[in-house]
Amino acid sequence: MTSLKAITFDLDDTLWDNSGVMARTEAGHYGWLLDGLAGWLAERDWPTLALGHDDGLQDYLERRLQLAREVPERRGDFTWLRLRALEAQLEAQGLPRSAARLWAAAAMNEFHRLRVQVTPHPEAADLLAALGRRYRLGAITNGNIHLKRHPLSGYFPVAIAAGELLTPKPDPKAFLTALERLDVAPQDAMHVGDSWEEDIVPAKQLGMHAVWISETRGTALPEGVHQIAHIKELPGVLARLNVPY
Ligand SMILES: [Mg+2]
Repeated sequence: MTSLKAITFDLDDTLWDNSGVMARTEAGHYGWLLDGLAGWLAERDWPTLALGHDDGLQDYLERRLQLAREVPERRGDFTWLRLRALEAQLEAQGLPRSAARLWAAAAMNEFHRLRVQVTPHPEAADLLAALGRRYRLGAITNGNIHLKRHPLSGYFPVAIAAGELLTPKPDPKAFLTALERLDVAPQDAMHVGDSWEEDIVPAKQLGMHAVWISETRGTALPEGVHQIAHIKELPGVLARLNVPY
């Protein structure tokens, strides 16, 4: 008989659709930075930045990719990469270091304000509330959403930002950390996520039950891996495993 004591969830594209949020956040915080800086520079009679919105964003992205290559252990720590890339970009534009640091930090505050404005799937809150009465729940994300400020944060007594631990999924460290904090053995836990490589492969290797959220059809799944198209189908998986919901 299956025993299940804890369930861990990926966040982005598992409990909400993340693509629109990232696009809005990316353009939004950078636009906020350029607007704020334009006024600040004008007040001081300093020259305006040579960067516009689009070429500035492209330069910012290239700086992040370069930094991730130069400091590979930070490759999944997106907040750190963004902060350092913005600081370097602003210094390259002639801002004094102290001002570059201040504005980069302020832009990242705006980033996090926008990043938590996710819209969970309508079924997610009730599902997590019901599961939370029977199981210990954890969140394991590679993303840099603020773990205490997103709309479903209250359902997760344990939440792990794998990239900030410097061990982004599929590294098993984030899973092991979550299991330890949940005080549960891998075989008594289930992980739910949308990425085959980052969620399902490591969960399976550790001996956890795994639920893959994917609309891919016709894939032969290894034993212990279940596939659903949407989080709302999770109770059906629990029923098939003959564990309570
Ligand atoms: Mg995901």
